[in-house]
Amino acid sequence: MRVLIIHNPKSGFGSDAIFEFERMLIGPGDECCLRILGPEASGADELFDAERYDVCVLSGGDGTVSNMLYALAYRDVTACVFPSGTANLLYSNIGNAFEPAALARACRTGTTALLDLGEISWQDDKGIERTRGFSLISGMGYDAQLMRAALPNKQSMGQAAYFAAAFAHPHVSVVDFHLTVDGKRSDHQGISCLVADTATMQGDIALVPDCRLDDGLLDAIVLEAERFGALARPIFAGLLDKSGRRIGRPTFSHKRGAEIEVVSSEPVPLEIDGDVVEGLVTGYRARILKQAIRVIVDGTSPYHPNEAPA
Ligand SMILES: [Mg+2]
Repeated sequence: MRVLIIHNPKSGFGSDAIFEFERMLIGPGDECCLRILGPEASGADELFDAERYDVCVLSGGDGTVSNMLYALAYRDVTACVFPSGTANLLYSNIGNAFEPAALARACRTGTTALLDLGEISWQDDKGIERTRGFSLISGMGYDAQLMRAALPNKQSMGQAAYFAAAFAHPHVSVVDFHLTVDGKRSDHQGISCLVADTATMQGDIALVPDCRLDDGLLDAIVLEAERFGALARPIFAGLLDKSGRRIGRPTFSHKRGAEIEVVSSEPVPLEIDGDVVEGLVTGYRARILKQAIRVIVDGTSPYHPNEAPA
């Protein structure tokens, strides 16, 4: 087996679990190439020869891994997502077992699933058109504001940094979002406008029900809460009803489609899979890239071919 491992040493708590995983994965006769990302590297360039390998292990946080998966879109490459970040939401959404030995076995077995990726485009402060891939949730408004505020504490506090930031920033501005989903326009007032490839967050809370990585659709979600107090309602609704099927999400406005365009009434921050982009934006376009990536899955994943869809 030929294996390429790309590791971001700055992800999460700087854990070296990836090296333990490498030892479990590699056996006699195998070839392994390990590339460590430098501070400015996105991981895309390091995948230039990814087709040479039987499996490419992408090790980092959600932002890094999404960048690398986008670089692999529609290429003849099998990727294995390895959880080295703070939240590792993509890993949780793929649903593989958390034991490195089980993941190494899954790489050997080579069972894969074809999953969707999101692609998001926006105009930056200088009017330059930018495009990036995402695998979870991107959005503009309060969510991006929170992530920007949490950034200095992420390395030391982990996920708690987001909650600390939420309590430090209880006042949020409400803006107008003009949303177009597959050509249908609607107008909303809210604090955030999110677009999700899959919408299961920390603690297995599904922002919207039945959102999957292989349904060929994006979910557009406007958070219509006006204050942090009001935001607590959907969070608690999430804790009580994780799937979102029973009591719904009272302050969310939710639409599903393959192409989504958002325009906001004033400039707000934008985050892509938890990475906040520089400056402010007044809108974005997002589209789904159907079945763009081939990813290793094990028997515990809801995307395993023998698993009936939830
Ligand atoms: Mg989806």
